[in-house]
Amino acid sequence: MSAWDALAARRAGVPILEPGHVWLAGSGPGDPGLLTLDALAGLAQADVVVHDALVDTRVLALAGPQARLEFAGKRGGKPSASQADISQRLVALARDRARVLRLKGGDPFVFGRGGEEAMTLSAAGIPFRIIPGVTAGLAALAAASIPATLRGVNRAVIFAAGHGADEDFDWAPLARAGQPIVLYMVMHNLDRIVASLTAAGLDGATPAAVIAAATTPRQRVLVSTLDKIAGEARAQDFEPPAIVVIGDIVAMRAKLLGDDAPAKAKPR
Ligand code: SAH
Repeated sequence: MSAWDALAARRAGVPILEPGHVWLAGSGPGDPGLLTLDALAGLAQADVVVHDALVDTRVLALAGPQARLEFAGKRGGKPSASQADISQRLVALARDRARVLRLKGGDPFVFGRGGEEAMTLSAAGIPFRIIPGVTAGLAALAAASIPATLRGVNRAVIFAAGHGADEDFDWAPLARAGQPIVLYMVMHNLDRIVASLTAAGLDGATPAAVIAAATTPRQRVLVSTLDKIAGEARAQDFEPPAIVVIGDIVAMRAKLLGDDAPAKAKPR
């Protein structure tokens, strides 16, 4: 009995991936421990797993022995297969009666193009299910011991894409909100975005952090301030995928890790 069979036997109502159906699932940020049980059920049952580059190899290793892995997405910044081609590929596989698991990094609807794929499947009359995933913005904060919210510190969290179709984006309202900003896809635009936030009044001394390759063996964390974060990330060769978080919640990391306590009292 596989580990999944053993688990399925103890879980009422495990969803069945039928031939001709597509599950559009999030794979989380990397660590397979952050998969949902439904995503794991999809991996166990799929005939074909269509995945992005952000899906960790440790997650793909959990696919059933019958599963064929198909890569679709960006690799090394090169243009990907067009979104329309990927969506049509899902439709074609389902029409061939395959059990299809479409796996996307993090959550399929958070700065991923899961919404477009779901719309194509819906228009084509293909039965599908959406399985949310742990999004990198939250997983990276947790992995870096930075609470996304803390009573008395913040009551909202802003998630924003640092790179995308709309380069005319106005950062000023985000700066003025006085709430932490969690940036995805930002490494190539960090200087420009920091300048916009600073121009809109955000203090250069605001705590900021970069968390790269969160929840993978390559995870790195850089803690700095808004005015220095871009230069330090560059000097230390921080590379995508990375999350940047700006706000007072970053200062809580030292407290959580006990780094600001006297050395002898450090709980580890
Ligand atoms: N759908 C994904 C986001 C896709 S956009 C999600 O919900 O997480 C791609 C961006 O996600 C990357 O540029 C990076 O900012 C972030 N990202 C994804 N995986 C990450 C990881 N393991 N560590 C840090 N950032 C990550």
